Amino acid sequence: MSQAQDSGLRTVVRTFEGVRTSDGAGVALTRVIGSQALDMLDPFLLLDEFRSDRPDDYIAGFPDHPHRGFETVTYLLAGKMRHQDNQGHAGVIEAGGVQWMTAGRGIVHSEMPEQEDGLLWGFQLWVNLPARQKWVAPGYQEFPSAAIPTEDRDAGVAIRVIAGSTSGGVSGPVIGVATEPLYLDVSVDAGATLREPVAPSHNAFVYAFEGRVVVRGGRSAADATVAAGALAVLGPGARVEIVGDGPHNRFLLIAGKQLREPVARAGPFVMNTRQEVMDAFQDYREGRF
Ligand code: FE
Repeated sequence: MSQAQDSGLRTVVRTFEGVRTSDGAGVALTRVIGSQALDMLDPFLLLDEFRSDRPDDYIAGFPDHPHRGFETVTYLLAGKMRHQDNQGHAGVIEAGGVQWMTAGRGIVHSEMPEQEDGLLWGFQLWVNLPARQKWVAPGYQEFPSAAIPTEDRDAGVAIRVIAGSTSGGVSGPVIGVATEPLYLDVSVDAGATLREPVAPSHNAFVYAFEGRVVVRGGRSAADATVAAGALAVLGPGARVEIVGDGPHNRFLLIAGKQLREPVARAGPFVMNTRQEVMDAFQDYREGRF
């Protein structure tokens, strides 16, 4: 029995360090997915962490730029970002809040820090859309910190649930996404363990951003330590066990259904064929977004 249970444990198959780079008009960030080492993890196309209290690292922001064919998810831990697009939508994302933007057939938008000093800290995740949804109208799901439920478990585990549901019955506010994502922001005290199912159909990863955690290997694999700034790709299975290893530890546990479709991407466009990407550049140049 224990062996059958153990075979369900999702263990670390590979760990990646983020790469320091810059994007937009000169925003310093750490690229974790979408790098040479880890091009994508279907359906996830990109993961950036930006974290700085030096205005020079972020003040230039991301002025007007297009997107087509996927979704961008901005989750802020500290600071404020102002968002504005060419469809008449604007707003400010504040600390603890999330914006799940479905670019669909295309938008042009800007994402600019709404602050001149202080800490700006957060993540942007790109989630692919299936071919049939790449042409949907752009849309948003936006939630302030207060609208994101936290599940407090015994023994030092707290889970902010942004998308998907936990085994404790807490569901995130983001719904109706094609890839049925799980997006959890998990805090674990030293020695505390998150035990949580993760859909076997989904690709899944852990990205540590404070302290250090150990992803349990059970009987079939070694335990793997994941320190802040590292991403661990999880292998097949149905559940995870993740233990806090430092005084304070925090990580993202993210999973999504694999699309298994061809991916053609360049810059801000993610389509299924090269021709569709070329069409996107031409449509943008000719003002059809
Ligand atoms: Fe953008």
